[in-house]
This record gives sequence, structure tokens and C-alpha cells, in this order.
Amino acid sequence: MSADSTRRAAAVLLVILGGAALWWAGSAAQASASANDAVVVTIAAAREHAAASDPRLKSASRFEQGGWIYVHLEGDPGTVGYQHGYLLAPEIEDGFAAVSAGMMHSTERDWEFFRKAAREMLWPKIDAEYQQELQGIVEGLRARTGSKLDVDDIVAFNAFEELPDYYVPWLNKRQKVANAPNLKSPGNCSAFVATGSWTKDGQIVMAHNNWTSYRNGERWRIVFDIAPKNGYRILMDGFPGVIASDDDFGINSDGLMVTETTITQFEGWDPNGKAEFVRARKALQYAGSIDEYAKIILDGNNGGYANDWLLGDRKTGEIAQLELGLKAHKLWRTKDGVLAGSNWARDPKVLKEDTPEFDPNNKESSPNARRARWEELLKENKGKIDVALAEKMLGDHEDTAQKKEEPNERTLCGHVDGSPRGVKEWEWQSYYPGGAVQGKATDARMAKEMRFVARMGHPCGGDFLAKPFLAAHPEFAWEEPYLRDMKAGPWTEFRSGQTSKE
Ligand SMILES: [Zn+2]
Repeated sequence: MSADSTRRAAAVLLVILGGAALWWAGSAAQASASANDAVVVTIAAAREHAAASDPRLKSASRFEQGGWIYVHLEGDPGTVGYQHGYLLAPEIEDGFAAVSAGMMHSTERDWEFFRKAAREMLWPKIDAEYQQELQGIVEGLRARTGSKLDVDDIVAFNAFEELPDYYVPWLNKRQKVANAPNLKSPGNCSAFVATGSWTKDGQIVMAHNNWTSYRNGERWRIVFDIAPKNGYRILMDGFPGVIASDDDFGINSDGLMVTETTITQFEGWDPNGKAEFVRARKALQYAGSIDEYAKIILDGNNGGYANDWLLGDRKTGEIAQLELGLKAHKLWRTKDGVLAGSNWARDPKVLKEDTPEFDPNNKESSPNARRARWEELLKENKGKIDVALAEKMLGDHEDTAQKKEEPNERTLCGHVDGSPRGVKEWEWQSYYPGGAVQGKATDARMAKEMRFVARMGHPCGGDFLAKPFLAAHPEFAWEEPYLRDMKAGPWTEFRSGQTSKE
């Protein structure tokens, strides 16, 4: 008997025993609670055992390092999804609970509303291969945990950056909803991409830190190494259960390096467009050049999660910025320069048509204060920029508005929980528990070998502790079931094909 069939036989036996125990428990007049618990445990163990021997899991793997969970996924779309759902099942259940609670809280809509939007608006326009991958996630998740989540739940969850803050405000306005909550598109991230005379070796350096609520951000700890049947190999950070990187930091085996920062106070949505999470994943998987990237991400642009994309092509040394509004967009490109992002649009047409409320001249706002800091910091280090320096920059605490060092909402490493001002442009109230939640960096040489470095938690190394925060700020009590400590890990290197800590 092979090891596989032994496992299968054992699983079958467990199912039979579990069934017998269930019958016994049901018919015995004095079945104790502990016997019932034992039955539940036996059935769960049998299911998990049977699922573990599924041939679709053969080439997948998982390990944890430096606060990150690394998964290797490989095969056709359904198989990649199944592996994703199975290997990250506990994290998907946990992430779904935290994210869906946040979506319902901010929009004052119930979960059925998001399921309907996923099913009727998003699903029909999702490419077949990503529909298969999303269905695979549901299958893998259910096989492992017996989860009740279905594909509508998973699609709505994948769209957590676009449905609540882009679709809902557009819908509220259109339907003239009375007393609608004041929803604002998010401002996620500080990032740059540099090349030519700006970097130490003349080749591309790219770095990014993810800004979001600590509630979600503490869970944004997955490194995905995906070897899809079609398209290029991908190494990206990401969120459990979501098929795109979503804070967006990734490299592919054809030489493309991709990151972004979100456009503050963007307004607009096209219900006939294609979900952003699908376009972003597709572009990282299939684009081998800056032009191909722009073409794929623009195809079916729905306005969701509108970003300033920062791109690099390590084959040519060229970098680019694609400012992707809905009514307008603009592409800049250079082989000698630096392009930075901290949630501000700059193209006059995008500013006018897609971000009518954004004030590019307010030096005290988070996006503009960080913009000034990037300009200062990058200029100071022209010709010296490398990955080690990028790591330091991502943890920078210089507030250009106050001209002093103080971690707050205006620093490249954001700590909004320490700011009495909050960020009104994103509807983040005073002391909002959000900011920079992790950072990543790479360069052309590392990208060629499919490697990047990543640090979980604030890139400066500071910890966020939930208990004292909630005691001091009872206005965030609703987050209590989901808000956890976010302790910084070490800068850690990951590469494609890695099978364990090394
Ligand atoms: Zn910091």
C-alpha cells in the first residue's frame, strides 16, 4: 500500500467510525456533551484527513517565517485556487470575518447587499480562469474546515477594496440615499520606484509600505509564490483568500516589477466594468512590459480602487507611473529618474475629473506632506538608493508640515493612531487605528532571481498593541473582536520556489 492509499484508507475508516459514533450519540438517551464534542472532532479530523490526500495539493506548500506565511501554489486555475483555500483556510475564515465586519460597519449595508453585488455585477465579467480559481478557493476552504462560505462570499471579499468605498458611495449618490454614510476612497501606501543615475547600481529599485486599518493590515501577511499553468510566475505579498496582491507589490518572471499607491478622494464607478482585483491580478500574471501592463489594467476599467501604478521593467531599466483615473488617465515613463507615490494625483485632467475634492496645495494633509518628504529624501540620496536604504526610507518619521520627527499621519511610515487630526480626506477620524502595516523592497538583480525582502508590522519596527489602545479609545470598541496586536517582525527575504525557512 502506498502512503497515499494508507492515508485514504485511514480517512475512510475515520469517516465510518465517525458515522457510527454519530448514530450512537443520537440514539443513546444520556449522550454527554463531551461525547458529542468528540464526535464533532472525529468528523472534522476525518474530513481534514481525507482532504489532505487530495492530489491537487501535491505540488503546493506552506511555511511561516518572520511573521509572514509563505504559500507556493502551482497548476491550473482550479488547482491554484484549491491549494490557496486549503492551505490558508484558517486565515481566510479569520480574514473574512474581520473584513466583512468592516465593510458592513462603514457602509451600513448588510452582507447580502455585497453578495448580490458580487453575483450580479462582478461575477459575469470575471475571466473564466479567475472564476475557476475563486471556485477552487471555496472548494479547498470547505474541504479543510467545513466552511459555509460560498463563491458569492469569496468574490465580495476579494472586492473589499472596491465595493465599500467606490461602488457604495456612487450608488448612494445615484439613488439619493437619505443620511448615507460619508464614504471616502482609501489612501493606501507610500512607495517609489527609481532607476538610472538615482540608484546605486544604475538599475531599478522598488519599495512600498501598505497603509490600511490595523484590523485588516495585521492580517496582510501572506507571501504568494504562484506558478500558474498560463502566464508568468508571480511572487507577491497579499491577503488570505484574495487572488490579487491588493496592496500591490509583486514581481513576475518576465521582468515586470509592480506596486502602487491609491488616489486620494477619487470618485467614480462603472458598474459595467471589470473588477479591479481581477484586472490587477491578470496584469501581474500576463504583462511582460509596461505597455502590456497598461493595456491589461485599462481593459474594462471600472474605477474601483483607483491607483497610481508604479512599474519597472528590469529587462530595459525603464520605470513608469500610470495614474489610473476612470474619466482620465496618464502614463509617465523614464530610464533615468524616480517616481514616488503617497496617495496624490498629479495629472491636471485626473485631478479635475476624477478627484474634484482633492486639494494638491494643502501642505498639511497626509498625501501632500509625504509627497514633500519623498522629494526631499530621494533627492538627498540620489545615486545611493538601494534596497537597504529603501528599508530605512519606508520606516521614516519626518513630518514635513511640523518640520520635526514624529510618527503620525504625515510620515512615510504612518501611525494615525497617534494623531489627534486623523486623515479627514479618507474619513479616518482622530486616532484611527491605521497606518503603515508592513513593507517590501526589491531591485532588478533580486527581481531577476524572483526575490524580495519584506517586514511585517510598522516598517520602522514599532509595535501596535490593541488592548491599551482600545482602553484609551472606546470609540473604536466595535473593532474589539477583530483588532489584534501588530508586532513588527524582522526584514526577511523570500524567493520563488522556497520550500521552508532558509
Ligand atoms: Zn513607524
